[in-house]
Amino acid sequence: MSTPALSVNWRAAARIRHGHVWVYRSDLVGDDHLPPGSLVRVQDEAGKYLGTALYSSSSQIALRMLASERLEPAGLVELLRQRLLAAIAYRERIVRDSDACRLVFSEGDGLPGLIVDRYNDILSFQVLTQAMDRDDIRAVVLRTLLEPLHPAAVVERVEPRIRQLEQLPPQEEGLRHGEKTSTIFTMNGVRFQFHALAGQKTGAFLDQRENYAAAAQYARGEALDMFCYQGGFALHMARVCAHVTAVDSSRPALEIAERNEELNAGAHAGREIEWIEANAFDLLKDYATAGRQYDTIVLDPPPFAKSHKALPTALRGYKELNLRALKMLRPGGALVTCSCSFHVGEEDFLEMLRAAAFDARKSPKIIERRGQARDHPVLLAVPETAYLKCVILTL
Ligand code: SAH
Repeated sequence: MSTPALSVNWRAAARIRHGHVWVYRSDLVGDDHLPPGSLVRVQDEAGKYLGTALYSSSSQIALRMLASERLEPAGLVELLRQRLLAAIAYRERIVRDSDACRLVFSEGDGLPGLIVDRYNDILSFQVLTQAMDRDDIRAVVLRTLLEPLHPAAVVERVEPRIRQLEQLPPQEEGLRHGEKTSTIFTMNGVRFQFHALAGQKTGAFLDQRENYAAAAQYARGEALDMFCYQGGFALHMARVCAHVTAVDSSRPALEIAERNEELNAGAHAGREIEWIEANAFDLLKDYATAGRQYDTIVLDPPPFAKSHKALPTALRGYKELNLRALKMLRPGGALVTCSCSFHVGEEDFLEMLRAAAFDARKSPKIIERRGQARDHPVLLAVPETAYLKCVILTL
């Protein structure tokens, strides 16, 4: 079987030549009735070879570039195996003080459509594209993960909406290897529980791993963790702060956060975290009116901008939060402020912070401009692989 060819317009060709890895459906030229998930040879309108890609028959992103060299279908599985081993080796070099990390970050690791997370001895993977859902590819992924890592279990996480968009058949979430479905993992010396399947799922925002450590470095005194989820920042800050208040609107998330606190009881020198179930916007307003002040504030809201169109509204939301936080921050204190909205660029985020500081009549200094942890690699040529912003300010 040889690799079928697909032509793309000049715009997509130029992007590919600059190292980008996505081709939108609207940039395909001519017929594209190929089997879902096939390997294709990509060429420009003049028939000049551009690279090899994986094809999706339904996604807006019709092609995800895989390699600049020519590749036959028979070589695909071996290429993916090599990429997977390289992704694992990269984590061995850069992940410190943690037995949890993202082992495979899709395009960031040259494995478009595959996410693999490690939580101590359990691996959790998710398939996002037709190509990665192919039986032959699933088999090599599983085999390659088992070989060097010997996990106690491998589970598959499923997001039905993504499978629908990719026109993939429904898939049951569950174990693909071993029996174990829960474990305890450690990040920067802080312990967390992980339940892969039953009931309320647990885990962590692995992309914040290095930012947790950074926040702990500046945190002191009275700390406020807004949008705390299962306690990532709060648990790190409890080791160094006199008092931590942590807020989330989700009761199940807070229940797990409290159990995580118990897991770390020894490390907090008897200090309890105050977990509060509330809407962060309302609570910040109340606290500001009451004149509350903090030495450390973390803002890590959910992605406000789900599309580019939602950007102005999202920025207003971020500004309100940051304005109030800056007003409540004591001199010398630290504000750790994050945005995981893919559609909010770093410059948009900084501009929003400038406006918030201006309205709050404050002149903060930037101590650090950070992003997602290094186990979520950003491709230089693909700005879309960077999504997390984390700015640390002080007054
Ligand atoms: N900081 C966390 C991750 C935050 S994810 C960590 O490092 O693990 C965003 C969190 O915001 C979710 O837990 C969600 O329940 C919560 N959330 C969403 N809207 C909210 C609101 N209006 N007020 C308070 N919490 C909210």
